[in-house]
Amino acid sequence: MTERRPRIVVGLTGGIAAYKVVTVIRGLVERGCDVHVIASESSLNFVGLATLEAISRNPVSVGLFDGVSEVKHVALGQSADVILIAPATANIMSHLAQGRADTLLLTTVLAAQCPIVIAPAMHTEMWENSGTISNLNTLIDRGYIVVGPETGRLTGEDSGVGRLSDADDIVDAVISQLAPHDFAGVNAVVSAGGTREPIDPVRFIGNRSTGVMGIQLATQLKRRGATVTVIGANLEVSVPRGLKLVKVSSAQEMHEAVKEYAHGADVFISAAAVGDYRVANASDSKLTKDRGTPTLQLIENPDILKEFCAAKGPTFVVGFAAETEPSTLVERAASKVRMKGVDVMVANIIDDDSGFGNTDADIVLLDTSGNVVSKYHGSKSGAAEHILDYVSRQRAAQQ
Ligand code: C5P
Repeated sequence: MTERRPRIVVGLTGGIAAYKVVTVIRGLVERGCDVHVIASESSLNFVGLATLEAISRNPVSVGLFDGVSEVKHVALGQSADVILIAPATANIMSHLAQGRADTLLLTTVLAAQCPIVIAPAMHTEMWENSGTISNLNTLIDRGYIVVGPETGRLTGEDSGVGRLSDADDIVDAVISQLAPHDFAGVNAVVSAGGTREPIDPVRFIGNRSTGVMGIQLATQLKRRGATVTVIGANLEVSVPRGLKLVKVSSAQEMHEAVKEYAHGADVFISAAAVGDYRVANASDSKLTKDRGTPTLQLIENPDILKEFCAAKGPTFVVGFAAETEPSTLVERAASKVRMKGVDVMVANIIDDDSGFGNTDADIVLLDTSGNVVSKYHGSKSGAAEHILDYVSRQRAAQQ
């Protein structure tokens, strides 16, 4: 008996970037997927039906009223393992956010139970329009996975944010949604974001972590079957439904939440950037200039991860070591493995292209002896998948 191939529905909409989606479809077919394209009428101004059928190796569906006897939207929606909408125009994002049902793609999405990935592409002004931002947030709240857009050359002479992500990144994002249920029954806790240490009621010492990496890990753990609690510090990204969110702000609040939620968990991923110091003489009222230049006294915060690992029992612990110096990344991360006592350390480079605030990650995994076991460079969703694959293998080996 031949194994069922993962079924991907690709919703192609009418943006100039539609021609690049042909490469995405080819990539998905090459990765073993059974790809069914739903092309909007306007997308066919940019790509020909024959091209789509030849590359996807399946008939392409267009109209809501084509082949009505097959009830296509239900058939495609129910049988899809992932729906990819690319390029996701401002128009389709608006229609999706409204829950509209007047095209084959929209009705298919409404009938679907599977993950939905969107790859937006549009001009910068449209992407930054408050209507588009509001629609995007609605879709993220509903659990949509968003890939890109990237900054770069746009259709005309201009450049800016709004360029469709690279085909490989879109393919990776779709494939990562096909993950196995290897974390079924696992109770996982993920810390994410960056702590803020108050100086006074309006000011703080913080860091540039947005929480994207932690939320990617949490989302993928959930999809792979885990029950997930996120301890989120000042997250700049939405937390998809289905994840329990415990909001904290300072390192001390993070400390309390880790003690309450992570002890006894099967997996604890400490992805948050925790402030090493807090202000000992934080003011209860706003510091004003007439009180003179303040002198801040810093005291060390507890090392939450180190303390946790000292009494972690069977919990599998993942630590992060963010470094800015590539030449000493491994050496410094290896010393942190020993110092903190984690099961795996994810060393990540923070530079202009990777790490805090970027869509990409450049990571190295170190085992309990501080040896490099793997490296990954690419999208944060790909990096999260890479980390979880390692955790899954190690946990299986321990059992
Ligand atoms: O020593 P460094 O700050 O690089 O260690 C980073 C790792 O330790 C991260 O996993 C972070 O979540 C955790 N950490 C912590 N408590 C601190 C500082 C860092 O749990 N006070």
